[in-house]
Amino acid sequence: MAFADIPRLSLAHSPTPIEPMPRLGKLLGTENLWVKRDDCTGLGLGGNKTRKLEYLMAQAREQDATMVLTVGGLQSNHARQTAAAAAKLGLDCELVLEPVAGTPDTLYDHSGNVLLNRLFGASITRARPGQDIDALVAERAHLLRQEGHRPYVVPLGGSNETGALGYVRCVEEIAQWQYEKDIAFDRIILATGSGGTQAGLIAGTELFGVTADILGFCVSRGTDPQHDLVLDLTQRVFLSLGLEPACLDNRVLSDGEYVGEGYGIPTHGMRQAVRVTAEYEGLLLDPVYTGKAMSGLIDYYRHDQIGPDERVLFLHTGGSPALFAYETALLR
Ligand SMILES: *Cc1c(COP(=O)(O)O)cnc(C)c1O
Repeated sequence: MAFADIPRLSLAHSPTPIEPMPRLGKLLGTENLWVKRDDCTGLGLGGNKTRKLEYLMAQAREQDATMVLTVGGLQSNHARQTAAAAAKLGLDCELVLEPVAGTPDTLYDHSGNVLLNRLFGASITRARPGQDIDALVAERAHLLRQEGHRPYVVPLGGSNETGALGYVRCVEEIAQWQYEKDIAFDRIILATGSGGTQAGLIAGTELFGVTADILGFCVSRGTDPQHDLVLDLTQRVFLSLGLEPACLDNRVLSDGEYVGEGYGIPTHGMRQAVRVTAEYEGLLLDPVYTGKAMSGLIDYYRHDQIGPDERVLFLHTGGSPALFAYETALLR
């Protein structure tokens, strides 16, 4: 099916703005640093999952679902945006949330995204530490069906061939901006977790003739496993769009050097990146994803792995509601 004909519900404010970051750029020795504000997608405080949900919720509608069921860490931005989308569309929503080892012990389990989930009226099932989360979701889906509901199960992070289409569409916006401004980015930099955002971006560059490299800073695993995860999904997105999936291996760029001890666990670099971006640009990152990606970007400039003439676009994927859950870890 042609990309433009794939069913999509309108949930996001888009196109999102692309803005220069002159003060942060000056600090890093460049005049060529921009940010795409996907933290401003609008739905329930915004973020990258909203673009994915435009396609996923269209599929839920087609399947005549009465509710959505999804999964994530306790402070999942994906779960929060799914709860908001369900509320907007008049669907019930159940979130299966798992504890995340090593995260702050106060506020984490009730502030930030957890508070917002409550406001959106989602019901929450909490997994026990170490519990098999996929089995739990399958069990909940089965029970809900027995009770007469028709649940649509959204995968972790909304990352499958359908959700990733949201980031194919994001590249269409970037291509349009490049055309209007007569500027072409050399690199697009983002935080990569469940991989759908990066996979969609790579497919989008192919579809819309954008030449930028797409570099993902990992937030939950090392370089090689993240590369394999994103490559596999990218190949599936290419196939679903009828694109030639040859030679993708070297187009999936991952760097796992800035994860620290693990998903959701604060690092020194993250704290510095969150603070410097707030102080120099008035821009709020998040402690789990964009803070770690920005710490990687800053380190690349410091070590000449990005030159001053390279045109760099940082994709702000959202997540700032989690700042409130990380208060104790940020203000140390
Ligand atoms: C989910 C998320 C990401 C990662 O996107 P994936 O498609 O899962 O790789 C990045 N930033 C934020 C704020 C997120 O919530």
